[in-house]
Amino acid sequence: MFENLAEKLEGVFKRLKGRGRLDEENVKEALKEIRMALLEADVNFKVVKDFIEDVRSRAVGQDVLDSITPGQQIVKIVHDRLVELLGGTSSQLKFGHRFPAPIMLVGLQGCGKTTTSVKLARVLAKSGKRVGLVSADVYRPAAMEQLRVMGEKIGAPVIRADSSQSPVKICVEAVEEAKRRGYEVLILDTAGRLHIDTEMMEELKQIKSAVNPSEILFVADAMTGQDAVNVAAKFNELLGIDGVIMTKMDGDARGGAALSLKAVIGKPLKYVGVGEKIDALEVFHPERMASRILGMGDILSLVEKAQTVVDEKKARELEQRIRKNEFTLEDFKEQLLQIKKMGSLQDILGMIPGFSKIKSLKQAAPDERELFKIVAIIDSMTKKERNNYLIIDGRRRKRIALGSGTSVQDVNQLLKNYAEIKKMMKRFTSKGGMKALRRGNF
Ligand code: GDP
Repeated sequence: MFENLAEKLEGVFKRLKGRGRLDEENVKEALKEIRMALLEADVNFKVVKDFIEDVRSRAVGQDVLDSITPGQQIVKIVHDRLVELLGGTSSQLKFGHRFPAPIMLVGLQGCGKTTTSVKLARVLAKSGKRVGLVSADVYRPAAMEQLRVMGEKIGAPVIRADSSQSPVKICVEAVEEAKRRGYEVLILDTAGRLHIDTEMMEELKQIKSAVNPSEILFVADAMTGQDAVNVAAKFNELLGIDGVIMTKMDGDARGGAALSLKAVIGKPLKYVGVGEKIDALEVFHPERMASRILGMGDILSLVEKAQTVVDEKKARELEQRIRKNEFTLEDFKEQLLQIKKMGSLQDILGMIPGFSKIKSLKQAAPDERELFKIVAIIDSMTKKERNNYLIIDGRRRKRIALGSGTSVQDVNQLLKNYAEIKKMMKRFTSKGGMKALRRGNF
């Protein structure tokens, strides 16, 4: 997600960093580059224009604070503006006081609606809610079957529907059934079409008025870029939506749709789909996402994600160690193995501060063989070496390479990558710690 933009902005800020004073000329130059970066990320033209205007008026003439450089000040302004662009604060789903609270998922065919329904059921069930699912896609029996199979896989009950009935009747009856079964939430997976058509909209409107959903969520495919925003706008105009779930963010390096959405249609992005696996749905946090785009990494997200797999205590200990700069090679190995369990390796690594800068490891990351090599190398080290990599001299490197069936170059590469990660972590966790990071003060 957002890799291209992050890379471009990093370049802009690097050039600004050396400047001692913020004058109109260097602000203008930086803004030109930021503008290009946003346009290349496929952000809506008008949104870019407003964004740049706003940053300009905030930047020029502003007194440079004593403690930070002008470059850092621009980073801060861009960061704040980016947070606003992404929606400000993360938006919770509304459930109201009815049981069940119907949540209606709408969108075009292939956008990932069915997958997302099940992912959302899983997220809500994990938060302690009793959740049921139903498919109203009577036109594609395969879609109904897909929901049943996927729901079963995660243990979320799918209410059986008769495809000879009307979608409206299916939804109304499913709400009744969900009430009898005591579900707190009922997710309605509706039918999509390849394009917006009146019949589809009519059907959705009827479902809306029959069940009065607590939330209507538009499911948008991030890969379709600005089209996703246009279709969302149309759904909002014709049906009225409460928010958006953007799928396939993992396959979209630009992120323009996510960046334009709030400004164009005024509705928040609530969740993002980041992979095909059932656990690849995340609450969307504008603040954290802005930090990630600006290349500052996100220890919070990393720890939060880690907590769902590792037990909480372990994650807390890890966080403490990261903060105290005691992240050992053993932790590094543990993390790589945990990450593998979580599925989306690239994504997790992207959250480690500075990781996007470590190209060599990034390339090695998704490769299973490479991962096992790293594990083998670390396993061949003594406890002392794992706790203090600085003692690993040439002789030890040779021994480790031999023991792990790898080469000295492999050992060197691993130690280099580890040292770089450790350095980044130290940089972000020292001097005022996370607060400084959040202020964009690095
Ligand atoms: P529907 O027609 O809208 O119900 O779409 P489906 O749920 O059947 O999804 C269409 C395709 O998109 C499937 O192959 C899904 O695995 C895939 N998909 C859905 N969400 C994501 C996502 O967040 N990331 C990726 N990479 N693929 C996704």
